[in-house]
Amino acid sequence: MTQPTPTVLLEEYLRTLKLSAMLREYPVVARQAADQKATYEQFLQQLAELEVNQRHTASIQRRIKAAKFPVLKELDAFDFTAVPKLNKPRVLELAQCLFIERRSNLTLNGPPGTGKTHLAIALGIEACRRKHRVRFYTASQLANLYLEAREDRQITKLEGQIKRHDLIIIDELGYIPLDRRGAEHLFSFFSQCYEQTSLIVTTNLPFTEWPQIFANDQRLAGALIDRLTHHVDILELIGDSYRLKASRKKKPRPRKGGDTPDKT
Ligand code: ADP
Ligand code: MG
Repeated sequence: MTQPTPTVLLEEYLRTLKLSAMLREYPVVARQAADQKATYEQFLQQLAELEVNQRHTASIQRRIKAAKFPVLKELDAFDFTAVPKLNKPRVLELAQCLFIERRSNLTLNGPPGTGKTHLAIALGIEACRRKHRVRFYTASQLANLYLEAREDRQITKLEGQIKRHDLIIIDELGYIPLDRRGAEHLFSFFSQCYEQTSLIVTTNLPFTEWPQIFANDQRLAGALIDRLTHHVDILELIGDSYRLKASRKKKPRPRKGGDTPDKT
């Protein structure tokens, strides 16, 4: 019987060890190392580095996927000139994600279309890049999850899953008022996360109007705001809707003496 060649054996070992980047790249790296008269250590280090880099990229992708962002939005694509009152250095500092290590929260407040969801997702992606476990929900998705879990007597399990995250984004708090049960569930959620899991909350309503989200319960809304804002950064997005501005820009200019453009 003929012996397998060294490369066949090598490839089998690399496959067994699940070193897929090394398996893919070793012929090229080996050739380059020979050309450059690199040492064995340099060759091995270069190959190991490729494996480490590939794993790092794959784990970021896995965390981004697990976060279930509705779309992917990056900080680079955020036009800060559109919201001049927003404190850009503060946003860039938040993107370093130290607030997550401090278990502190962030609220993004402002009218529709001002970039709250965009910023929340962009910060969430930065957190994924820094090895944090992130999850995105809209407020109504989260309330529904609690309602379903309640029916199946699975609330403890749900809260266990929630606690495994380092950062949870709650988008669109205030768009849909919650009923009594929904309000109580979200209160339970905020209590669970207090000083345990960082939150980013986006909302169109000032805190004074939060009771109307939470079944008009002043006390419950007050206690919830108290927990959320004990350690918090509040970013106000003031300005016109970016969507509206973008669609206005796209509209053709009216002909001279023609109809005035509509102002939607
Ligand atoms: P909000 O959540 O405040 O209603 P979004 O974040 O959903 O607003 O923004 C609406 C759309 O406009 C999205 O496509 C978003 O990417 C874009 N957008 C909003 N603000 C900006 C901005 N300052 N720079 C770039 N894109 C923006
Ligand atoms: Mg939004």
